[in-house]
Amino acid sequence: MTEITMVDHWIDGAPAAGASDRTGPVYNPALGVEQKRVRLASTDDVDTAVQSAARAFPGWRDTSIAKRQQVMFAFRELLNSRSDELAAILTSEHGKVLSDAAGEIARGLEVVELACAMPGYTKGEYSENVSTGVDVYTLKQPVGVVGIISPFNFPAMVPMWFFPLAVAAGNAVVLKPSEKDPSAAVWMAGILKEAGLPDGVFNVVHGDKEAVDALLEHPVVRSISFVGSTPIAQYIYSTASANGKRVQALGGAKNHMLVLPDADLDLAADAAVNAGFGSAGERCMAVSVVLAVDSVADELVAKVRERMSRLTTGDGTRGCDMGPLITREHRDKVAGYLDVAVDDGATLVVDGRDPDVDGAADGFWLGPTLIDHVPTSSVVYRDEIFGPVLSVVRVDGYEQGLDIINASRYGNGTAIFTNDGGAARRFQREVTVGMVGINVPIPVPVAYHSFGGWKDSLFGDAKAYGPKGFDFFLQEKAVTSRWLDPSHGGLNLGFPQHE
Ligand code: NAD
Repeated sequence: MTEITMVDHWIDGAPAAGASDRTGPVYNPALGVEQKRVRLASTDDVDTAVQSAARAFPGWRDTSIAKRQQVMFAFRELLNSRSDELAAILTSEHGKVLSDAAGEIARGLEVVELACAMPGYTKGEYSENVSTGVDVYTLKQPVGVVGIISPFNFPAMVPMWFFPLAVAAGNAVVLKPSEKDPSAAVWMAGILKEAGLPDGVFNVVHGDKEAVDALLEHPVVRSISFVGSTPIAQYIYSTASANGKRVQALGGAKNHMLVLPDADLDLAADAAVNAGFGSAGERCMAVSVVLAVDSVADELVAKVRERMSRLTTGDGTRGCDMGPLITREHRDKVAGYLDVAVDDGATLVVDGRDPDVDGAADGFWLGPTLIDHVPTSSVVYRDEIFGPVLSVVRVDGYEQGLDIINASRYGNGTAIFTNDGGAARRFQREVTVGMVGINVPIPVPVAYHSFGGWKDSLFGDAKAYGPKGFDFFLQEKAVTSRWLDPSHGGLNLGFPQHE
């Protein structure tokens, strides 16, 4: 019998087994087999990682900005030149096709490049002579040991939304990646070490709720950055806040694409298919609902259906368009919505169950699926399905489409397809969603803007990356300074006033 590979934690600059004997499975979703096991940290294991970060923090905080910046540049070069290795890891554990894995890494690299520009974002401010002979200035200092908890669907990019900025700003990190595809985090830890990052500044602990709770409750951990589903994001936000930590908590999504009658229907159909089925719909910015205005809905659905017939599903290493879902249980859950849709009165236009695949029979497959006439009362409309299932909801015009989007509990991303600039401008102003695309189906902002939704897609007000992403990992200190001369003598017990 061949021994199964164990995915270790990464603590103090080296792989670590930890003390817990609990482990979990890591599948190759395209083969449908368990390929590795991952360690599941105990509270003590998390403490070991946090203590390592706490020891490393003062030295890293006091490392010059120039030196920290050099480490980020070296990390950027290594990541760029070896991205094929990372893409292969993503495809083998997540299942997404290699070209999509490369796209994920490229979007993460953007944030690393932002981190290289750290000095421009972390400078303080200076006001000279606010009172006679008195100057006031602000310092932006790292917060200390920071915790990051990430989801399965972007095992490289989502951690990179946070740790490059945290590290560049002088913090020490404990990352708890998804236990479903844990190897990317450890690979990046090794690359950071090669780039010259001192041991202990970046640690990885694998695990489940026990590890997460240990981070949320650890008194040395000063902040939590979380991305995942809405119920867990809400739990993280309330628990970490109750423990006195700063929190950024990004949750789930149900993203609508509103297609007005004047839109270019070919471009809209391309966009709906790309954004609905890329990464098998396992993206928080996937389009899962097309709101089609009645007068063009039949034509649009026909165009979407025709494009879907050209998609290939299979092993991500074989040049297919779409890979498998993350686990068998998740695939079965997603497929379960199809019968519910029919029961609720919707029309199953393309049924993805039992698809033709270029891959192993046991892979966690579900082909692209299209459901038309979905009622907004159905759970198929309301739930975040997180799979290759595109719902079409028919609307009578702009107003009804807008009302449906604004009534959704989620507010991550949305898009409008139209050639009417006035309608687009109204939409960007009136829609209650955090990231808006105008003829752009997946409006993920570039790294120097910030990423985050509204409503149940983000708890609190701290968005990811961009200038606000840096601010999250920095605490401001205001210094009021006077260099004394004899004229400043004398007693005065009144509250300080300007002279
Ligand atoms: P998830 O919420 O199940 O897990 C996210 C993280 O939380 C993982 O590290 C997991 O180990 C941990 N976790 C899971 N259950 C927990 C519990 N009961 N207590 C404490 N920790 C727990 O999410 P997922 O399935 O890994 O990822 C998919 C979800 O993430 C989708 O809802 C998707 O929309 C969302 N997502 C959101 C964004 C965004 O930017 N808003 C980005 C990517 C993914």
